[in-house]
Amino acid sequence: MVVYAFDVGETLVDESRLWLRYAHYVGVPPLTFLGVLGSYIAEGRDDRDVFAHFGVDFDRFEANLTWRNRSEDGILADDFYPDALPTLKALKSAGHRVLIAGNQSKRMNACLEALDLPVDKVRCGEQWGAKKPTHRFFQRLLREAGTDAGEIVYIGDRVDHDILPALEMGLRAVLIRRGPWGHVHSAWPDAARAGAVIGSLRALL
Ligand SMILES: [Mg+2]
Repeated sequence: MVVYAFDVGETLVDESRLWLRYAHYVGVPPLTFLGVLGSYIAEGRDDRDVFAHFGVDFDRFEANLTWRNRSEDGILADDFYPDALPTLKALKSAGHRVLIAGNQSKRMNACLEALDLPVDKVRCGEQWGAKKPTHRFFQRLLREAGTDAGEIVYIGDRVDHDILPALEMGLRAVLIRRGPWGHVHSAWPDAARAGAVIGSLRALL
């Protein structure tokens, strides 16, 4: 039995709304904010450095943002890429186990669970006390999957957080080339280590 495990941001979910909202609340024009994000992605730097660049502490910022804008908060059904839900459903229907396991916060994870997605489990790094790219995250994933590492396919948009640590733990790994990380990382030499580089989740079928 093959277990398909999915990253969230830019693998299943289009984060455009989220990042534009960040730009708005940081008080920077969207092009400026996303341009700096892009340069930091290319340098392999942490996303939080973008906030620091504009003099904002991310943790404090996010806590305030949640408090001020609860109605726009979290992940909405409309945020999913058009191929995401049909692919999850098709994999389930074909008899595979399907997990969602990413670095989303517990709060974002609760949003995903509320959407009643066609998957077996929705888990997050904050729940496990272990975020990607740590091996501990993938050890927890292995335990949840309840099968051999070689039977698990991890699908993500980042070479550094998804592909390389999954391969190091013996999982199979598929890189999706979309979103800013996917487009930048798919040009990195290590992208060739992924079992496949795909442009749409439908390629998994
Ligand atoms: Mg991602």
